[in-house]
Amino acid sequence: MNLENIIKELREYYKENNKTLIDKVSIERDPFKVLISCILSQRTKDEITEKVTNNLFSVISSPEDLIKIEDKELEKILYSIGFYKVKAKRLKEISKILIDKYNGSVPDDLEELLKLPGVGRKTANIVITKGFNKDGIAVDTHVHRISNRLGFVKTKKPEDTEINLRKIVPKKYWIELNDYLVNFGKKICTPISPKCSICPIEKYCKKVGVKKFR
Ligand code: SF4
Repeated sequence: MNLENIIKELREYYKENNKTLIDKVSIERDPFKVLISCILSQRTKDEITEKVTNNLFSVISSPEDLIKIEDKELEKILYSIGFYKVKAKRLKEISKILIDKYNGSVPDDLEELLKLPGVGRKTANIVITKGFNKDGIAVDTHVHRISNRLGFVKTKKPEDTEINLRKIVPKKYWIELNDYLVNFGKKICTPISPKCSICPIEKYCKKVGVKKFR
């Protein structure tokens, strides 16, 4: 497998291209902010989530702050993101659990994170990797799609992709893999008609399931 070469190429590509929202938030290595940003980013464009999280983090920085905000005020801050009412409620629920069960901290354990409402494997892995700098592979739709096209895995669900990637990707690449593939999936290996003609890893790609490309 050309995994090492692919990672090298993607690393170069990534250096020259814009970082994602979670990369920006994770610079602070604050697991609470990473968790909240991930939940808010679900089904919402990065630009909108970024604006909203900036506004939110200008008034709160902990679960204790969050539960003190009036429901209406929180909904007003979140208004421009998808499902803002549901997400406002969820953020409060999560904050309350963090205070009651984890002493106001975000747990650094995948299984514990998965017990929080609205937290799936992708979000839990992002918190582990971006918030705590611990090993994990966060698989979203981009990582799932590209891993299958490259022929790394042959899976139907992102959860299975994660399990398979954990077996074949050396641990030293786990954290960075998500960064590279999410960024790459938004710009080059897009869901419909990927830009194979300008793809830096085309020579390594099996193009599994790719019927039309540019
Ligand atoms: S060659 Fe095409 S399908 Fe393969 S990774 Fe590049 S853009 Fe995606």
